[in-house]
Amino acid sequence: MTKHIFVTGGVASSLGKGLTAASLGRLLKQRGLRVVIQKLDPYLNVDPGTMNPFEHGEVFVTDDGGETDLDLGHYERFIDENLTRDSNATTGSIYSHVIASERHGDYLGKTVQVIPHITDEIKRRIQLLAGDDVDVLITEVGGTVGDIEILPFLEAIRQFRLDRGRDSVCYVHVTLVPYIAPSGEHKTKPTQHSVIELRGRGIQPDAIVCRSDEPVGEDLCRKISNLSNVPLEAVVSAPDAGSLYEIPLVLHDEGLDDVVCEILALDAGDPDLGEWEALNAKVAAATVPVRIGLIGKYVSLVDAYLSVVESLNHAGIHHGVDVEIEWIQAEDVEGLLVADRLRDLDGIVIPGGFGPRGIEGKIAAAGYARENEIPCLGLCLGLQCMTIDFGRNVLGLERAHSSEFDPTSPHPVIDLMESQRDVDDKGGTMRLGAYVAQLQPGSRVREIYGEDVVSERHRHRYEFNPRYRQRFEGTGFRCSGESPDGRLVEFIELDDHPFWVATQAHPEFKSRPNRPAPLFRAFVEAALRRAEGRNPQLLQVDAADGE
Ligand code: GLN
Repeated sequence: MTKHIFVTGGVASSLGKGLTAASLGRLLKQRGLRVVIQKLDPYLNVDPGTMNPFEHGEVFVTDDGGETDLDLGHYERFIDENLTRDSNATTGSIYSHVIASERHGDYLGKTVQVIPHITDEIKRRIQLLAGDDVDVLITEVGGTVGDIEILPFLEAIRQFRLDRGRDSVCYVHVTLVPYIAPSGEHKTKPTQHSVIELRGRGIQPDAIVCRSDEPVGEDLCRKISNLSNVPLEAVVSAPDAGSLYEIPLVLHDEGLDDVVCEILALDAGDPDLGEWEALNAKVAAATVPVRIGLIGKYVSLVDAYLSVVESLNHAGIHHGVDVEIEWIQAEDVEGLLVADRLRDLDGIVIPGGFGPRGIEGKIAAAGYARENEIPCLGLCLGLQCMTIDFGRNVLGLERAHSSEFDPTSPHPVIDLMESQRDVDDKGGTMRLGAYVAQLQPGSRVREIYGEDVVSERHRHRYEFNPRYRQRFEGTGFRCSGESPDGRLVEFIELDDHPFWVATQAHPEFKSRPNRPAPLFRAFVEAALRRAEGRNPQLLQVDAADGE
C-alpha cells in the first residue's frame, strides 16, 4: 500500500518547500522506492495556465498536456520521472468538480459543504496517484499554514492519518528560522507559532525542516524540538545551498530520509547517492564562464523562465561551463543594438511568451544573432520571432509578422493553427503536451538528437504558416522537423551559421540535471566555442582541466 508524506510550509512562502519535497523524493528513490510527487495549490484558478508568469512564475507543461505549477518541474528534474496533470490540483479545480457533481445531482439532495464534500474531493485527488506501483506519494500543500485558503487541505490531510493509520502517513513541516542581524541571532519563535497553528488544525508534525541562511545549530534545534514536540533527530537544518542539486545531500546528511523511513516503517536500505554526488562534483567543476543573453518579457521574475534556466545549467554542467545569464528586457534590445552591447554575448536564447510587448526586440535579437554568427536558440515564440526576422530581412517580405501581433500583416508568416480557429475559452485550449516530430535526415537537429523521431512538449496557438514554407526553404533556411503528417513545422535552422536553431516546442520541460535536453546541450556547446574564439585563454583552462 502507498505510504504518504505531506509537506506543509510555515512562516513565509518561497522557502523551498517544493525543493524539499523533490529532494526527499530523490532520496527515497535512491533507496529503491517508487516515488510520485504531487502539489495541491490553494488558489482559485482551475490551473496555473491562465496566470501571469510575473506573479506566479512559469507554467510547467507535462507530457499529457497539463498546465501545472512550476514545482512540478523541480519534482521531475529531481526524481527523474514524468508526472501527469493529476500531480497538480487547485482549489479551483476541486470546487469546479464538486459543483459540477452537485449540478448533476450526484449528492442526492444533501447539503454540499466544505467538510465533507470538498475535503473528500481533496482526498480523492491524493488517492488518485496512489496505487500498487507507488511506494511513496509525496504531497506538497502550497501556501503557508495560517492562510485562510489552506484550511480544507489541512483538514483533508489530517483525516488521512486517521483513515490510513499511524505508520502510513508522515507530516513534514518546512519553516523559516530567520536571522535577526542587530541581535546577531537566529530566532525560533516564528517556527513555534507555525507549529502551534498546525497543531491547532490537528496535525502534529513528524519532522521539521528549518530553512535559514546559515546552519541552525543544535541548541536551537533542541529548542524547536522541545517546544514543538518533535524528536531532536527529526528537526533538520536546511541552510541556503550553493546549488539546488546539493539539497538532497544536505537533507540526507541531516538524516531527514532516515526519519521519514522510520516513521513510515519503510524497510528500505541506505540510499545509493553515487550518481547524485557525481552530479554535484560536476556542478562544482563547471567553471568556464559562458555568457548567455536571455531576451525576455518577464525578466524581472527569474522564476518565469525557471525550466529554461535549469536547462542551460544542465547543459553547462555537461560541458564544464558556468552559464552566466544576462537578463535582457526585450524592449531594451533595440537600444542595446545601437550601442553594440550584445556583441559580448556567447549565445542568445529567445524563450516562449505571449502578448506583443517586446516582440520587436526579440525579432531584432534574432536578426542580430543571425548576421553576427552568434549562437541563437529559439523556443516556441522564439521560433516565431526568428521566422519573422528571416521573412522580413532575408526574403524581403514587408511587414512580415505573426497574426497574433499584427492581424493586418500582408505576410502572416506565423498564423493561428487551424485547430485553434474557433476556440474562445482561455484555459487549457492550446496545443498542449507531448507531440512527436519527424526530423529531416542530414539536418542539424537530426544530428543533435541522434534520432529520426523525437517527442517534446508544446504550449502554443500559432505556428509557421505552411503557405510560406516553399518561399523559406531553399534559401539556407530549413524546416528541419515537422509533425508526422507534415502539416506543422516543429524545428527550423540555418545551414550557414554556427547555431541558429529553433523549435515550436519547449524542450526545457524535459531537461534533467544529468541528461540535458539535446538542443540546450548543443546550443551551450556552440556558445562555448564562441567564448573560446573570443577568449583563447579559455581553451587553456579546458586543456588544463583535461590533464
Ligand atoms: N504566443 C505564441 C503562441 O501562442 C507562443 C507561445 C509560447 O511561446 N509558448 O503560439
